[in-house]
Amino acid sequence: MSDFRTHTEINLLAIRQNAETIKRHTGKQLIAVVKADAYGHGAVPVATTLHPVADMFAVATVEEGIELRKAGIRKPILILFSCLPVQVEQIVEFNLTPSIGDWKFANALNEIASESTPTKVHVNINTGMNRSGVCYTEAQPFLSRLETLPRLKVEGLFTHLATADEVDKSFVSVQLKRFSPVVANNNGKMVHVANSAATLAVPESHFDAVRPGLNLYGIYPAIEKPIPLTPALTWKARIGWTATIAEGDGVSYGLTYKALYQTRVAMVQIGYGDGYPRSLSGTGEVLINGLRRPVIGRVCMDVSVVQLESEDKVSIGDEVVLIGKQGDAEITVDEIAQRAGTISYEILTQIGTRVVRTFRPTVSNNEY
Ligand SMILES: *Cc1c(COP(=O)(O)O)cnc(C)c1O
Repeated sequence: MSDFRTHTEINLLAIRQNAETIKRHTGKQLIAVVKADAYGHGAVPVATTLHPVADMFAVATVEEGIELRKAGIRKPILILFSCLPVQVEQIVEFNLTPSIGDWKFANALNEIASESTPTKVHVNINTGMNRSGVCYTEAQPFLSRLETLPRLKVEGLFTHLATADEVDKSFVSVQLKRFSPVVANNNGKMVHVANSAATLAVPESHFDAVRPGLNLYGIYPAIEKPIPLTPALTWKARIGWTATIAEGDGVSYGLTYKALYQTRVAMVQIGYGDGYPRSLSGTGEVLINGLRRPVIGRVCMDVSVVQLESEDKVSIGDEVVLIGKQGDAEITVDEIAQRAGTISYEILTQIGTRVVRTFRPTVSNNEY
């Protein structure tokens, strides 16, 4: 057992197997989305692990792309969102593949890109998500205009689906229909659309490559579970204090919990300062000795309090599982997200810097 106050254990083998399962299921190229520090799993170790499997990586920002390059990642790195004209030099220097969603940025990039080796770009087409990209009705003239920029090479075309994780897939069809004229005239460019939900549930969106994030980490974005994926993250903390409180006593700020009878309680060293959601106050559960125990009263910045049963054998320093398995019990990211009134994505990406990330197996650098 590690000696950290709170830590996550990232199962890199599971991430690699999930990626391989996705590739087998789709038979397409894999653009592995490792933005936001690989959804809290660690971008560099995850990308290192996936280097033999992924055809391309995708990140949200130039900074995230540079981090991967500095760590020795050599595969293409796509930046999913529009970059700023001030970032064009870094994009060229670090050989990143930007998304093009407007003319001004394309022009700025063309100004400084190399003549001998044009900068590869992917054009982002807005088909209804309405948060980035060139409007689908203007895609053809925009692509023609891009061809006048000699130092850019359009390597790929993509769009992003707004409702692939919903049961009703009718707007997915609308978006694919808007995208289809662009695909028809693509001249061999790499076309990609599918996020995790579409990778699992919308085969007609697979085109040349799929672009999942959440699936890689073993989590399903929707009810469809056509392939087995293994969750890769376990989150642990420790017991810091125990006591027996009297009937009528309250617990934590605001004393929102009141003991109905004499009750054993334990403080767990985890709080919203670690990214454990405050909205789990009075509704979260943790695993202690392989059994579920409820979070009582308010989650504080650094600690939370759980209710024990009289027969529970606990000592200070004992391990508590917040997400993952302990004995026969399991708390999933989805359960935590539901109890906290949010989605798995937010729980994972909010895990804080005080939480030490550990890896199994240890990352080896000679894999790629
Ligand atoms: C985040 C993101 C993805 C991956 O989404 P998941 O639901 O995690 O698979 C794919 N494409 C774009 C444009 C994104 O922003």
